[in-house]
Amino acid sequence: MKRIIALSGQKIEYSVEFKDIRHIIIKIDRALILKISAPKGVGIFQIEQFIYQKSKWIVSKLKMQEAQGGSKSELNFVSGEKVSLLGEIYPLEVISSKKKSAYLQNKTLYICVDDVENGELKKGVFKKFLYDQALFVYPKVLNNAFTVASRYGIEMPSLKIRFMKSRWGSCLPMKKIVTLSTHLIHFEDSLIEYVVMHELAHLRHANHSKDYYQFLTTLMPDWHERRERLNKLAGGIDLQE
Ligand SMILES: [Zn+2]
Repeated sequence: MKRIIALSGQKIEYSVEFKDIRHIIIKIDRALILKISAPKGVGIFQIEQFIYQKSKWIVSKLKMQEAQGGSKSELNFVSGEKVSLLGEIYPLEVISSKKKSAYLQNKTLYICVDDVENGELKKGVFKKFLYDQALFVYPKVLNNAFTVASRYGIEMPSLKIRFMKSRWGSCLPMKKIVTLSTHLIHFEDSLIEYVVMHELAHLRHANHSKDYYQFLTTLMPDWHERRERLNKLAGGIDLQE
């Protein structure tokens, strides 16, 4: 039995299972759905009272899990799972269709494949979707950052987008190439912009010297806060740039 409850202004889905137990138990599964186990005979009113009592814990736990889901692509590609895109959370809906595609509609991310049980197939469609999103978003973010960097004599680099697991981005100053990871697409554009600016600053200083960081601070005074937020959302992983 699936129901919706409003907690701190958020609509949260939960399911209830009645079992031979003595107390109500709340769990949050990997798809960020509340799973309630309740003793037989307990009414919905009582269950919801219990959820309200635990709302602080639930909301903070959901936030944490959402943030972690943002960077890790350990999705099972089942309907109901949550995916983070540009900092927004979307539920996933897997649909059987002859034509492979993935798209956003009505705040839902649809993945359409002919074999809905085929995990590799769904992953492939999803990866292409992420890449296409990155292809659409990153040049705009680069242009924005470049309007600042160009004032300091930085030349426009060429942009590459790759599936990189261990780095958010990289820069080849001699060749003037900036490479960004597709995984960045999960985060708010201000955080993508931070990584872009980090790479643009390397066009002046190839290393991570004191001069480099001074220059980065000139380009983006609040880079430190952005980096902290990115690391936090990525589950505490401090990836190289
Ligand atoms: Zn760097």
